[in-house]
Amino acid sequence: MDITLLLGAPGSGKGTAAARLEKKCGFVVVSSGDLLRDAVARQTPDGVEAQSYMERGALVPDAIIGHMIGELLRAGDSGTQYLLDGYPRTVKQLEMLEDVLAHCGGTLKAAVLIEVNDELVIERIAGRRVCPRCNAVYHAVTLRPQREGICDHCGTALVQRADDTVATVLQRLEVYRRQTGGVIEACEARKMLHRVDGNGEVDIIVERILQSLA
Ligand code: AMP
Repeated sequence: MDITLLLGAPGSGKGTAAARLEKKCGFVVVSSGDLLRDAVARQTPDGVEAQSYMERGALVPDAIIGHMIGELLRAGDSGTQYLLDGYPRTVKQLEMLEDVLAHCGGTLKAAVLIEVNDELVIERIAGRRVCPRCNAVYHAVTLRPQREGICDHCGTALVQRADDTVATVLQRLEVYRRQTGGVIEACEARKMLHRVDGNGEVDIIVERILQSLA
């Protein structure tokens, strides 16, 4: 099992890039945000606990999300190439991931950091629309669905995420700098960090990611 990490601020385009990479290169994408939103929607015990953290733009405790990701990877196929979107977000989560990989013989191959400035993040998040059913991501101006407000893939009505308000985004950016900075430093120290310019068209960004991994 090989793991590639997709790191970047909220709104840096990780989800959109991950979906393209899944189609193009056969990665299996695991998004910690999607796992948590699904747990919240189903009101599982983890989901109930995670909900208030997510609503205020804080990180969900490491134990909850670390356990979810660990279970998923342990149950996974040994030949799978995973792309982790949004995990790890703390150094503790990185260590938990390395523990799981040590147990199931997996390898942490690379980490791609999508870099964008704060203004672009706010613009992207304010216009972001998502499909609550299949998690496809759109933008009200730059990545519109074929039919206004309807998911191209499954026909479900698109929604705006509850934590995609400007106030919550500013909070999430602050959390990202404070808590995820250590993960970036740790990946750099392990000589596995690839920095990618996150400005521009999705296809171009995906190309940059692939070139950085080649
Ligand atoms: P995302 O969809 O990646 O922007 O995540 C949405 C929210 O889910 C975040 O603001 C956090 O509250 C929570 N979350 C997602 N991934 C993690 C993680 N790895 N650790 C802690 N909280 C997370």
